Amino acid sequence: MELVDTHCHLDLEAFAADRRQVLSDAREQGVQRLLVPAVDAAHWAGLLQLCATDAYLYPALGLHPVFLQAHTAADIPALKSLIGEHRPVAVGEIGLDYFIRDLHREQQQALFEAQLEIARSATLPVVLHVRKAHDQVLSTLRRIPVKGGTVHAFNGSLQQAQQYIDMGFRLGFGGTLTYPQSRKIRQLAKELPVEAIVLETDAPDMVVAAHRGERNSPAYLPDCLQALAEVRDTTVDELAVQTTRNACTVFSLDG
Ligand SMILES: [Zn+2]
Repeated sequence: MELVDTHCHLDLEAFAADRRQVLSDAREQGVQRLLVPAVDAAHWAGLLQLCATDAYLYPALGLHPVFLQAHTAADIPALKSLIGEHRPVAVGEIGLDYFIRDLHREQQQALFEAQLEIARSATLPVVLHVRKAHDQVLSTLRRIPVKGGTVHAFNGSLQQAQQYIDMGFRLGFGGTLTYPQSRKIRQLAKELPVEAIVLETDAPDMVVAAHRGERNSPAYLPDCLQALAEVRDTTVDELAVQTTRNACTVFSLDG
């Protein structure tokens, strides 16, 4: 089995003490490839350095909306030139978060649009973080179309999912799937076309049910696969092949 964790913050401080061990644990579980999305400019160099040590760690570079206060006007031109220089597999993670009430919405919107423009001019897919803002994100993507990408930890409606799919996006599913009470997410994962689904852990956050209260790890991705197989009433092997294919297609990874 060869899985891709399409969203893992392996560069963060939470993994500083045992990053190599976490990575080897993940590989032992069949999680061969990992996409590491950025959160802010302060982490870009470390993230690139980490991904340069391993052919199967793929960087995405961007400015996360939740860390709005950390970003400066100079970050946008710096991002553009870094992307030109390093050619990451995606721009991310970027998006809109309306769940956190005191995050300035116009500032988020301006940051999001500037990064979509960078993705568009670089012909790169994007890794989206969207909470309570799917319609706003979808209408922004209609104005500034990009080469698809993933909607990480998708939590919208089936109709919104379909609109993302029509724009070349895949929907990311992870630890939430492993909780039986996540009815809405499990129903979505059951109904969506299999071509539209990618797996992710979002480690160190959003831990799977079996490790509740612990730090999440890319090594737990098979739990998400197992939960997906259960809700879709299909085999783990079949879904492993399909979700890996989807991840490779959307981020142009080799086979
Ligand atoms: Zn993330």
